Amino acid sequence: MFDDVQLRRAVALRRDLHQHPELKFEEHRTAGKVAEGLRDLGYAVREGIARTGVLAELDTGRPGPVIALRADMDALPIEEANDLAHRSAHAGRMHACGHDGHTAALMLAAETIMQCREHLSGHLKLIFQPAEEGGNGAERMIQEGVLDAPRVEAIFGYHNRPGFESGMLFVKPGSAMGGNDTYRVIVQGRSGHAAMPHLAVDPIYVGTSIVQQLQGLTARHKSPLRAGVITVAAFHAGDAANVIPGEAELLVNIRNDGDEVREALAGHLEQVVAGVCNAHGAGYRIEQLHHVPPLVNDPEWSELVLKVGRDRGVARRIEKVDTMPTMGAEDFAFYLREVPGCFFFVGNGEEGAYLHNDRYEFNDEILPVAAGTFVALVDALMGQEA
Ligand SMILES: [Zn+2]
Ligand SMILES: [Zn+2]
Repeated sequence: MFDDVQLRRAVALRRDLHQHPELKFEEHRTAGKVAEGLRDLGYAVREGIARTGVLAELDTGRPGPVIALRADMDALPIEEANDLAHRSAHAGRMHACGHDGHTAALMLAAETIMQCREHLSGHLKLIFQPAEEGGNGAERMIQEGVLDAPRVEAIFGYHNRPGFESGMLFVKPGSAMGGNDTYRVIVQGRSGHAAMPHLAVDPIYVGTSIVQQLQGLTARHKSPLRAGVITVAAFHAGDAANVIPGEAELLVNIRNDGDEVREALAGHLEQVVAGVCNAHGAGYRIEQLHHVPPLVNDPEWSELVLKVGRDRGVARRIEKVDTMPTMGAEDFAFYLREVPGCFFFVGNGEEGAYLHNDRYEFNDEILPVAAGTFVALVDALMGQEA
């Protein structure tokens, strides 16, 4: 599907992006390169969406479906530990999630798609979004209209997955990645002398009771057949040995595999906090810091990804899996809240560091698998004989 020149160019772009990682909403250089490359190919390009996002469109002028493909462009605040020729040139920044590879793969697909535009009908949108890492760039892109005018009918994207065979294409229909909600809980007690707890309201005692009770939500409020996890990721209170502090702060992270589990866990957070606080005369405040919905793949579009992958032989191994490969969250979920589609996975190799590790490295061998799947989808959905 791709010749050597194209593949070499894709690898060169991937390594160039790797060398110049940019954090969320700061992807100016990356977006500039992407926009320039897409303009040269002949796409109509808009920059500056959701600050640093890029939307490239191909309107074939023939009636047909409106399809979107998406890549994310941001890096992480991690100091790279790899000793590579294309190692990050910026201290404390690194493409440790492979978004350099996601961007390069969609650019590779963009080139091949443009070459066969005469055989396509309908409207194609290529979405290069900023800030997947904790910035909910997808939500911002949607707010700024990338799914509208014309309205997108199906959307596709992918993530590389360390720990799986290099170049293996796999799809999980239905819930495929976790929903993620983070809350700050402040327990408001009353400070006092460590020797006279009866004159105080101890927020450490109350807060630790909340930590214990929260695990009861996963154990007793959600179905044992569904996935969900609660982690109290931070607990801050007190700084003197003879003082009961006035407040405790907890950071509570709740993951779910669907709305039902979200309701069972996050939906009962306040009840647990209020119940424990009331029992001991403490007050509380809860503030939501972050929300990503669960990522739910449409079953039909999931089957299509598998079918076109097999028909076009884009990977040596193609599989449908029936368990979620991770409870990690991905803001592609916001697009799938709006329009159906599928977020597929490509194995990054069984060896090698995991995502967000300072020794992680995107595997360039999987670029043609990811790009090939994008091209095969466009062919199947927008090809005139489709
Ligand atoms: Zn990541
Ligand atoms: Zn990622």
